[in-house]
Amino acid sequence: MSDCLPEAFVSRMGALLDDELPSFLEALRAPRARGLRVNPRKVGAAELGRLLSLRLDPLPRCPLGFTVAADVPLGGHPAHVAGLYYGQDPAAMAVVERLEAEPGWRVADVAAAPGGKTTHLLSMIGPGGLVLANEVSPPRLGVLHENLDRWGAPNVVTAGAALNDLASWAPGWFDAALLDAPCSGEAMMWRGSAITQWSPAAVSGSARRQARLLEQTARLVRPGGLLLYSTCTFERDENEDRVAAFLDTHPEWELAEPELRLWPHRDPGEGQYVARLRRRPGAPARAATDRPRSARRPGRDRGTEVERQWEAFVRAVCPDLVLPPGRLLARGSRLYQVPTAAEELPLDRLARPGLELGVVRPGRFQPSQALACFVDPHLVPNRVSWAAGDRRLEAFLRGEAVEDAAADGWVLVCYERWGLGWGRRRGGIMKNFLPPRARTRSRWGDPASRSPGDPPWR
Ligand code: SAM
Repeated sequence: MSDCLPEAFVSRMGALLDDELPSFLEALRAPRARGLRVNPRKVGAAELGRLLSLRLDPLPRCPLGFTVAADVPLGGHPAHVAGLYYGQDPAAMAVVERLEAEPGWRVADVAAAPGGKTTHLLSMIGPGGLVLANEVSPPRLGVLHENLDRWGAPNVVTAGAALNDLASWAPGWFDAALLDAPCSGEAMMWRGSAITQWSPAAVSGSARRQARLLEQTARLVRPGGLLLYSTCTFERDENEDRVAAFLDTHPEWELAEPELRLWPHRDPGEGQYVARLRRRPGAPARAATDRPRSARRPGRDRGTEVERQWEAFVRAVCPDLVLPPGRLLARGSRLYQVPTAAEELPLDRLARPGLELGVVRPGRFQPSQALACFVDPHLVPNRVSWAAGDRRLEAFLRGEAVEDAAADGWVLVCYERWGLGWGRRRGGIMKNFLPPRARTRSRWGDPASRSPGDPPWR
């Protein structure tokens, strides 16, 4: 593969690695180690391994992370649709671990899509904390939402803001911020697009952008709080030099620990750089005028109607449902549960101000995918539970209507004991409400599409 790598790239890596260069180039050529991270809110590793019929090998730097000992697609399995795990590069899992976030923290993940670090952060801060996940690119924000829906955590809000704006909403309000920066992506050089887009000028351009984003992200963090800066590139200019330049001009910040570099020939995964910075505790506290502003309350009439429909849905479908601490907020016909901790943020500027519960359609409340993956299925009496290999489950995952003779109304469709999505049953037929993007694109379960020895969801 080194034959098709840009010469300038190989010579820069040679300057960094000396006699390790051949093993580095060999590692770029080798098949990627594949990884997944377990969702501890839903499942343990042993049970997940059994469900996937896969050997999961623990990763040294992430207790929730594993390498997968087979070249299998990690999407498409019902355990994935139900949010039991997130497929992630093993090196990327070291990033959030480095933060050592504590339960209850408020964390801003400022470049969040597709959501690998956000879902990891949610597992670290537990139900009492809050993550603000921001993604400036609208299509990528949509993908972030899909992954958060699956994950099923209620204590995350999202935004689609430029970082300069974001920093002005809530200066000094967060215990920590993560800037997983856009970079020249050298750790992904094995992917064709990274090779064609790489150039020394692209590296310098990335470094300039990172300097600006670091500055903006730092404004979000309280005195004594942390900033985690990471990239998946090897250039000093985008890593150590960026951090050093930031520290030179910001005496109120210090390096909290030695920087971490993971290389593909030394560690599992594609490669990663991480720096953990601390804002010194003595730095001035935020001024009263800096405090984030709460949103205006929504128009009461519309809100009341949406809430009335929601209450009717809860009475009929999940009468014992308990939502996490917070309040209902209607936006147009859509309803959210706003976590209490998010009240101090300008809710009207957020893309999602909390857990999306559903939307009012003419004459009824349509529950959301996020609610299907959040709710404890035991609280939904009208549910069906299907195991892997069940034809009805396969049909449901493809987005088809399913024949199913039982009571009419909303049904929570479960894969074993985990919610997957909603169906609405009438006269023995269950209409499918799985959002198109949540449907499995692989031909899982279709015997005709399998080769001997393939796992069932290939
Ligand atoms: N943290 C993500 C994860 O773990 O799944 C990966 C983030 S990716 C390395 C960097 C992100 O930065 C991309 O989603 C990209 O859209 C976003 N980005 C690009 N330019 C940006 C900018 N000028 N300001 C903020 N974010 C930007």
